Amino acid sequence: MADRIIRAVTCDGAIKILAMTAKETVAEAARIHDLTPLTSAALGRVLIATSLLGNDMKSDEHSLTVRFDGNGPIGSIVAVSDSDGYVRGYCRNPHVDLPVREKDRKIDVSGGVGREGTLSIIKDLAMKEPYIGQTGLVSGEIAEDITAYLATSEQIPSVCALGVLVDRDWSIRAAGGYIIQLLPGVYDDEIDRLEECIKQARAVTECLDEGMSLEEMLEKTLIGFDIEVLDEAPVGYRCTCSRERTRGVIMSIGEEELRTIIDEDGKAEVNCQFCDNKYVFEKDELLELVEEIKNKKEE
Ligand code: ZN
Repeated sequence: MADRIIRAVTCDGAIKILAMTAKETVAEAARIHDLTPLTSAALGRVLIATSLLGNDMKSDEHSLTVRFDGNGPIGSIVAVSDSDGYVRGYCRNPHVDLPVREKDRKIDVSGGVGREGTLSIIKDLAMKEPYIGQTGLVSGEIAEDITAYLATSEQIPSVCALGVLVDRDWSIRAAGGYIIQLLPGVYDDEIDRLEECIKQARAVTECLDEGMSLEEMLEKTLIGFDIEVLDEAPVGYRCTCSRERTRGVIMSIGEEELRTIIDEDGKAEVNCQFCDNKYVFEKDELLELVEEIKNKKEE
């Protein structure tokens, strides 16, 4: 079943909710990058958060990048969402794995990501300069870090839950998440009620693995709140690379560098980090690009 994202509010308009299923999205990332259970969980959680935050943007031209630079063995984790919530991503060391945590037999995501480092969120709002926010990592568990970022960097009190359940054969059994945000003017007693709900809430993957829909999961999580679903949309893993864009990237390295590549390698191979597509540019084509750069300079 394709992944979907829903946007909902409580009937009094005080609380906004974004929730999604992400089994196919994470499975596609795992297939492209040959992920382990650990990196499926870590990159998967980042992809889910990025999709939820990206879907919340206003305009079609906007994009949102989430980047974790932790001190764990996975290294940097990057995910990019368009304004529909379609995502792509990668991590530095996709083949790293760690033993499950002793205390609860769960995947040690914070051990892989690292407990120290930074979380950056870059919003490209199709203006000259993108908006960049950065905070220190809180735990490396991803959801807690996102919550802390939203509270400190954007002053939005939020609750974030993200989950990826990996099966014994390393396939993705369930994945999804939600972000609940308090809108300005919310009453203290509602905050207390929400906190109580979240304390009692079951894990996202548990709910989804049991076959609950997103609506059922929210109903079971936000007990006592009247929820109205505003809209829903399909989401998934989608790369935006193309031969044309790759051409632009090659041209941006400049005439001199390009000539060195032609002399030394005779061709250029560019691998997309997000989808592993390979673009090969033969010598003739590279010479054409050199001409194009020269012509541009003369203009
Ligand atoms: Zn690509």
